[in-house]
Amino acid sequence: MPSLHSIRCICPDECGGTRHRHGRRLAERKCISAVSDASYGTGRRESGEEQRSRTDRWMPSMPGTLVLPRPGERAAWILIEDSVVAQIASHRQRLLGDSEAGGVLLGYRRQKHLHIVHATTPDHEDSRTRFSFDRLDESHARIAAKHWALTDGRCDYLGEWHTHPERYPTPSGVDRREWRKIYEHRSRPLLFWIEGTECRWIGMAHKSRLVVLESSVEGVGQA
Ligand SMILES: [Zn+2]
Repeated sequence: MPSLHSIRCICPDECGGTRHRHGRRLAERKCISAVSDASYGTGRRESGEEQRSRTDRWMPSMPGTLVLPRPGERAAWILIEDSVVAQIASHRQRLLGDSEAGGVLLGYRRQKHLHIVHATTPDHEDSRTRFSFDRLDESHARIAAKHWALTDGRCDYLGEWHTHPERYPTPSGVDRREWRKIYEHRSRPLLFWIEGTECRWIGMAHKSRLVVLESSVEGVGQA
């Protein structure tokens, strides 16, 4: 039964100035970085044509699906299903009374591609304020474990998301430090997503480097 990391973060206040310290706990130690690469396919080495054919079968065809080029790789993509994009956008903190939300990203590693198919969402035991989100509910780990089990370990933990009450979200110093605790000892890439009130920030961590994939803020560059 896989479980999730524990991290904390700090987010800017709505003026973008003073930063409020808060925590975001992602359940227990260990990680659910599972075995999707190893378990996907038959283990037989495929020809380039076979790989292209198989990739074509899952590449996006629906409007609203988010497709981002994977940095540092040729012809490698990050596909985020439209249902995930819409679900996370539904938690945008548009009103003053809206609290932060967050969860984990689940999906598949297909050769060099990442395919996000599900995001967990806040549940009863999560602690939420306008400037904080503590992921305390065990449902996140339970849902991740369910997906993992139903797919024989192919649907894997692929990252984290949470909201910020700011139009153009950027990761706080604590966000970066806590994410690093997750990715620095892993060989496989992970995504980190912050949903703002109107825009989003998405980064990919791989080989101890966090690179921005999508951001509306100029000059963010490499994290
Ligand atoms: Zn944050």
